[in-house]
Amino acid sequence: MKVTSSEIVISAVKPEQYPDAGIPEIALAGRSNVGKSSFINKLLNRKNLARTSSKPGKTQTLNFYIINEILHFVDVPGYGFAKVSKSERDAWGRMIETYLTSREELKAVVLLIDVRHAPSKDDVLMYNFLKHYDLPVLIIATKADKIPKSKWQKHVKIVKDTLELEAEDSLILFSSETGQGKDEAWGAIRRLTEI
Ligand code: GDP
Repeated sequence: MKVTSSEIVISAVKPEQYPDAGIPEIALAGRSNVGKSSFINKLLNRKNLARTSSKPGKTQTLNFYIINEILHFVDVPGYGFAKVSKSERDAWGRMIETYLTSREELKAVVLLIDVRHAPSKDDVLMYNFLKHYDLPVLIIATKADKIPKSKWQKHVKIVKDTLELEAEDSLILFSSETGQGKDEAWGAIRRLTEI
């Protein structure tokens, strides 16, 4: 997709703050450090629009970006920080659950997984949670450039098997370093949002 405009609309913590443009939305979720900001920046041809993910202690917000005036990306704060307190984790969980379960504009969720490692317990929980609410999921297997091509298929299989990925959900190998998978990702996002 040719991205001609992209900007942040709002950092929201509650539904009253969600934008009301009524345009389709894709949420992006994943463990901290998985490469989510890099993925967003690469797809939008921006260097630093999405910031390197929020560190523990920082306010956790849902960041809404508008693209070509027709699509929202919603950057969901990363999970998996060992040091986050229970109360912070609970607040994060409530915010995400409220958003994912009530947002009509939400068409699908991009779940980013580091292709070098088997999905964590948190990754599996997130995937199961999304499927529980019948949300279509697109898996972006990040950092493909960090493993040799000869090992890609082995790693992809581990990711799919660990998640028990359903047949209707696809997986795309991606690298923000090389741009691998960028066009495929846009193709999948356009199909999921019908834009
Ligand atoms: P986030 O916390 O999920 O938003 O992750 P970031 O996008 O900030 O990336 C975390 C780290 O991984 C940074 O040092 C990135 O430069 C690096 N990174 C992200 N994606 C890739 C990738 O595709 N290939 C390589 N080699 N490094 C990556």
